[in-house]
Amino acid sequence: MFVNLKETAEKLKSAENILVTSHINPDGDAIGSTLALMQILRSMKKNVQVYIDDNVPKSFLNLPCVDEIKRPAENEKFSADLFVVLDTSADRIGKVSEMTDAPILNIDHHVTNKGVDCDLHLEVEAAATCEIIFNIAHELGAEITENAAICLYTGMATDTGFFNYSNTKPSTFRAAAELVERGVQPNLIIEQIDKRTFQEVKVMSAALRTTKLYFGGKAAGMFVDEELYKKTNTTEGFIDLIRVIDTVDVAFLLTSHEKNICRVSMRSKNANVAEIAKRLGGGGHIRAAGCTLQKTLEEAKQILIQAIGEYLVETNNISREEFENCEEISISNF
Ligand code: AMP
Ligand code: MN
Ligand code: MN
Repeated sequence: MFVNLKETAEKLKSAENILVTSHINPDGDAIGSTLALMQILRSMKKNVQVYIDDNVPKSFLNLPCVDEIKRPAENEKFSADLFVVLDTSADRIGKVSEMTDAPILNIDHHVTNKGVDCDLHLEVEAAATCEIIFNIAHELGAEITENAAICLYTGMATDTGFFNYSNTKPSTFRAAAELVERGVQPNLIIEQIDKRTFQEVKVMSAALRTTKLYFGGKAAGMFVDEELYKKTNTTEGFIDLIRVIDTVDVAFLLTSHEKNICRVSMRSKNANVAEIAKRLGGGGHIRAAGCTLQKTLEEAKQILIQAIGEYLVETNNISREEFENCEEISISNF
């Protein structure tokens, strides 16, 4: 069932013991929104715990209260009367789904969220779940402390590519401006998120050398195999290196995290990559989406190129002949 902002605030107000979670492979919005909501609800004297079934990426380890994020142990339970799932539908939260039977309040901005078996507050126009949490804080009349503001700003900044992507709206800037008034220093946030070790830059350069163009340059892909991935355990920002190529509409990054598990990230300038991801069992936004394929890197590559090609044919961006005679252009021929 869909619930509006007011109903969402009411549900939060009437709960006492609240479990908050977000998606596995967490990003700045997942970490920022859970930490901010936790702080806001604790200021209202609620008993709140945050569990995420994954590690917190290095870029976010300095966020206020980050140590409060726990990973569920085997069969661990939390006695909650409300279970809040942020920035994803409830099917991408790993073992946290087994921690409680409390009713789910799902707060999200992904167009692909269908809100199965939960109360869903969905704002697809919101740039980030953090922007929705900002609105909820106002609806609740709760104070946004400097620490909560830092978390909210981080989620909004990372989901909008530091206020550059097409999801950036006047409301995003207004919220961000208020967060800066509350003490956020944008330069310190970007410094923290963009910081890389030399080893990471080396891995990035190795990944860049795997770049291939498809469909006359309309699509570009990067491939990180298990061996390369293990060197730093991050591919944060890699896709941005090829998204910028002038001919490219769809950019993708294929990463083999473990044997036969490949994560796909997609970005676009025009194409609806949420649609392509959905066909492959994933989801996301029109211009940023992803999925996981239980395949080898080579198999996943074929499936993905096929799906992107089919989509580009259907949307009249390439002809069927161009699709069938697609040549792979490698950066290493340079
Ligand atoms: P990423 O490329 O990991 O930054 O993800 C881009 C967008 O796609 C994010 O909003 C993700 O939440 C969404 N996304 C990524 N992987 C999946 C997946 N397996 N299922 C659903 N949504 C996904
Ligand atoms: Mn996210
Ligand atoms: Mn988000």
